[in-house]
Formats: sequence, structure tokens, C-alpha cells
Amino acid sequence: MQVVTTIAEAVRLRQQLPRPLGFVPTMGYLHEGHLTLVRRARQECATVAVSIFVNPTQFGPQEDLAAYPRDLPRDLGMVEPEGVAWVFNPSVEVMYPQGANTWVEVGALSQPLEGAHRPGHFRGVTTVVAKLFNIVRPDRTYFGEKDAQQLRVIRKMAYDLNMGIDIVPVPTVRERDGLAMSSRNVYLNPEERKAALCLYRSLQLAQRLYRAGERDAEAIRRQVRELIQAEPLAHIEYVSVADDETLEELAAIGGPALVSLAVRFGRTRLIDNVTLR
Ligand code: AMP
Repeated sequence: MQVVTTIAEAVRLRQQLPRPLGFVPTMGYLHEGHLTLVRRARQECATVAVSIFVNPTQFGPQEDLAAYPRDLPRDLGMVEPEGVAWVFNPSVEVMYPQGANTWVEVGALSQPLEGAHRPGHFRGVTTVVAKLFNIVRPDRTYFGEKDAQQLRVIRKMAYDLNMGIDIVPVPTVRERDGLAMSSRNVYLNPEERKAALCLYRSLQLAQRLYRAGERDAEAIRRQVRELIQAEPLAHIEYVSVADDETLEELAAIGGPALVSLAVRFGRTRLIDNVTLR
């Protein structure tokens, strides 16, 4: 496995190694969720590349950029046995040299939910992912459904900008008790870790209500909110029941609906979602 930090080395590898090239962009501090993306890429592609880059432009000024967990040796030890051919681990200066001033912005899809609560977040995500796509030039890329809006925004970017790259969605990987795996879970103290289970429970409740025939989106939002609010350590940012494709909030559920939420436990902000169909 080769670990490269410059764009010139990445270009050499993308030209040398067999196609199709599968690409898994990450911010590192890897867990089973990331490895599931890598394994899927390995099954479908001759060569797999992973990027590890904590992208400063997608963090707000009050967010956890400086504290974001990092452990490159551990990450490399995790991906090497998975058959990854190369890891791209650029510095901030390589990705954003002095004077860099071009941004990729997806319209309406990036406005609600995470976009509303993290101003500028998706502009940072789409810009760095577009740059990574241009550097790596993959045939297929793998994104987790855990970040449901991100997946939709990137799919839209790739389509609108004619990037010709397959965006493959991968189902959310959970801990045994249901908590969605996240690099940020390490921030949780034991009480918060226990409290965070209310996220998955509330999504299961939404699913049960839907299966029992509930189609009133507000009734689902209300009951999801009530379940989370019963947990004193949980502070809701949003609970959404939206059209699975457009992410517009629904009154009545007709087609597929995305139930998504962002909840704070102390200083840790967690997101999770499920699609009702
Ligand atoms: P991150 O390192 O958090 O930026 O995530 C990199 C990629 O891994 C993104 O496509 C995420 O959606 C995906 N990912 C993160 N956590 C999970 C999870 N629990 N299950 C599936 N995919 C995940």
C-alpha cells in the first residue's frame, strides 16, 4: 500500500494502476463504517484508493476542527489489510494553496437540515470532494447513507457537473446496540454514550409508526421528538421528515421519506437517519 501526500504522486498512481478505480473519501479516525465502504469498493473495483483529509472548509468557526480525532498510523493499519492500493493524505496547504478561491456549491438540496444548521458546511464538502475527484479521477466512489444529505448533495453535484463518476451509497453501519458508528462517538462520555441510544430508538419508532400506517409527517416528527426529549442529556437541533429525494419537509407521506435528526449530547453533535418506504 502506498501512502502519498502530493498531487503529482496521486496523478502517477491513478494513471498506473488498473481500472476501474474505486475511491473512498474520509476524514480519517476510521471505524467499521469506513471499512464497509472500502470492502464494497474492493468487491467492485480493480484498484481502491482512500483519502484521509480533515477538510477545514467544511467546519464552522465554532465547530470541532481542532479537536477532530486524528490517528494516521492507526488508520493505515486498518486499511492495509483490506487491500487498499493507495492512500492520499494531503496537507491543508496541498489542498488549499495560498490564493485558492474557487468554490463548488449545490443549490436547494444543500440549504435545509445540515445546511441550515451548519452554514457553509456543504460548500466546503462539495468543494473538497470535487477537488479530490479531479485529483483521483475515480470511476466509482462510495459514500455512507449515515450522511444522508451529503450523499444526495454529492450525487447532485456529480450529475450537474457531468463528472461521469458513479456515486455508490452504502447502508449505515451501527454498533451492536444501534448507535450509528461515527468518528465523533469518541467524544461521548459513558452517560452520553448511553443517552445517545435514543437516536436509533426514535428512528425505530418512526419506522414502526410508518409500518402501522401513519402517513402524517408531523405526527411522526412529534413522537420522535418526544422520545428524544425524554432523555435529559439530549438536545435536539432538528427532527425532519422530508421527501427522500428533494429533502423538502412533508405534511403527508406519499413516496419515500427521509427521517433525519441532529442531536447534541454535551459538546458532541450526532446525526442519524432512516428512510421510510
Ligand atoms: P467521514 O470520515 O466521517 O467524513 O466519513 C467518510 C465516509 O464514511 C462518508 O461517506 C460517510 O458517510 C461514511 N460513513 C461514516 N460513518 C458511517 C457509518 N456508520 N456507516 C456507513 N458509512 C459511514
